[in-house]
Amino acid sequence: MKPSPPSGGSGADLAAEATLRQLRQAFEKLPHGIPLVLFTDRQADSVFAQAARQVIRAFRELNPRITLKEYDIRHEEARRQGIEGAPTLLIAPDRYAIRWRGAPMGEEARSFLEILLLVGMGQSQLSEQARKVVRRIDGPRRVKVFVSPTCPYCPQQVVNAVKAAIEKPDLVSVEIIDIQAEPELADRYAAQSVPQVFAEETLIGLGAQAEEVFALSLLKLEPQTIFIPESDAEEVQTDLLIVGGGPAGLTAGIYAVRSGLKTAIIERQALGGQVALTPVVENYPGFTSVGGKTLVDIMVSHALQYVQIFLGESVLEIQHGRPIRVRTSRRRFETKSLLLATGASHRHLGVPGESRLSGRGVSYCSTCDGPLFRGKSVLMVGGGNSAVTEALHLHHIGVKVTLVHRRDKLRAQEFLSRQLFDNGIPVLWNTEVREIRGEDRVREVLLQNNRTGETRAVAADGVFIAIGYEPAVELARQLGLELTEDGYIKHDGRHRTSLPGVYSAGDVEGGYKQIVTAAGQGAEAAMTLFEDMIHPYWMQEATTRKATA
Ligand code: NAP
Repeated sequence: MKPSPPSGGSGADLAAEATLRQLRQAFEKLPHGIPLVLFTDRQADSVFAQAARQVIRAFRELNPRITLKEYDIRHEEARRQGIEGAPTLLIAPDRYAIRWRGAPMGEEARSFLEILLLVGMGQSQLSEQARKVVRRIDGPRRVKVFVSPTCPYCPQQVVNAVKAAIEKPDLVSVEIIDIQAEPELADRYAAQSVPQVFAEETLIGLGAQAEEVFALSLLKLEPQTIFIPESDAEEVQTDLLIVGGGPAGLTAGIYAVRSGLKTAIIERQALGGQVALTPVVENYPGFTSVGGKTLVDIMVSHALQYVQIFLGESVLEIQHGRPIRVRTSRRRFETKSLLLATGASHRHLGVPGESRLSGRGVSYCSTCDGPLFRGKSVLMVGGGNSAVTEALHLHHIGVKVTLVHRRDKLRAQEFLSRQLFDNGIPVLWNTEVREIRGEDRVREVLLQNNRTGETRAVAADGVFIAIGYEPAVELARQLGLELTEDGYIKHDGRHRTSLPGVYSAGDVEGGYKQIVTAAGQGAEAAMTLFEDMIHPYWMQEATTRKATA
């Protein structure tokens, strides 16, 4: 970094001189000075302290407004600033809480340069979407970014964190920690790979993240993998509006946009539907074994390449006509066609204690709540693929699980059933849950053998329920769509419902309820509606009716 005297030398020298000139110009334009405060241990000057001084000196030669004060770690100022180790560098401590533990060398010199420019500018330079997210942070975020000088992915996370600290200086503080200079601290956080980011002592990022994903992880205090851009639009016009962001809706979105249709997806809760809650998926082609949430992330990332997703908004009202008008909790849509891929929601047992103790030991999601029951005893109710998959998941994470099934034969696939028996998971056959008991949490469950009529209470810390799903047909009902006898949306085999321009796909149609079939139905529905838009079947029907009248 040290500027070299002008020379008529090699091409490399000339390039270096040009870079330095550009850097000097960039620093000259900055509205703010950049005070640096370095704390070192004068009694045991380390290579890291020497390196820090050297790097800072090189940068200071670029602009005199980069100033440096150095204190010994025993100085009163070190106590005042709460310095815990040397070297520690504070960057513009008059305005921001940004500190560096170690020396910004190697790859980290890049981060350091960018931090100096951002601090000198006094602006976070976050993207509009990331800024919106960071502004929603309403509590302290003490961020620790573990880095190493040889890690090319680290600068991105460092800069993400610093941008957040500049955007929200009252709440976000950042400590950049070189794991080579601070091995004990890295060990305490089990930071055995870099970059790793903790906020409020919680891991929020492993590896480099896009700026928006980092911002969301910081807001939610848990690692995020996907960022769905928010829209301020009050009214959106589309060719196709898809309600439901599970495999059917996401696939339909991809197919529709690729056919040239302007398409949007609305999802009121989490993307991925039931798949996101499935511990492991072993029958989706291309993946021998993949976590449900991981599969969803892959699908969502793919869909986002094409289709706009409106997450966290509920459809309140649909008016069928041309166009179809949809009002959500956030905005209005006008669309030429509508696809209901609203999926299904878990079925309840309907026994005393179930709803009162829901979230207090009664759970419908082993992936979400299973880890809370490690070493404890739970019952898993159901005999289908879900119950068996989830019982296996609980068993593998160290929960003592017993399956309770109302018949003497499982409905689950042979392959899954075999795994259940091979893992020695006990099954109570011909047994039904009559009551779930406990004051503040599940303590015991009243079971009845439906052959003998005998009842008995068994101690349990939790009850997981996986007894199938009810189709989510509220919107279909509101629209007046015809339903099947079982309560699913009735369609013509090509996903056309009883109303022109309204289609269905996925679990809400009934059928096999597999991820692969839902995706297939989404694709079919998108292709049907694309063809219908070119040759509207309702127009043809009207013409035929007129001709035969
Ligand atoms: P399911 O296949 O409908 O099975 C529901 C199970 O719960 C059945 O064993 C049923 O008993 C029992 N049950 C229903 N109501 C009950 C009640 N009131 N009390 C006690 N038990 C009750 O539902 P699922 O297992 O949730 O699966 C739903 C769909 O997703 C299925 O199509 C399934 O194939 C699919 N899925 C696939 C995979 C996979 O392929 N890896 C994984 C999960 C889910 P009976 O047997 O007596 O009817």
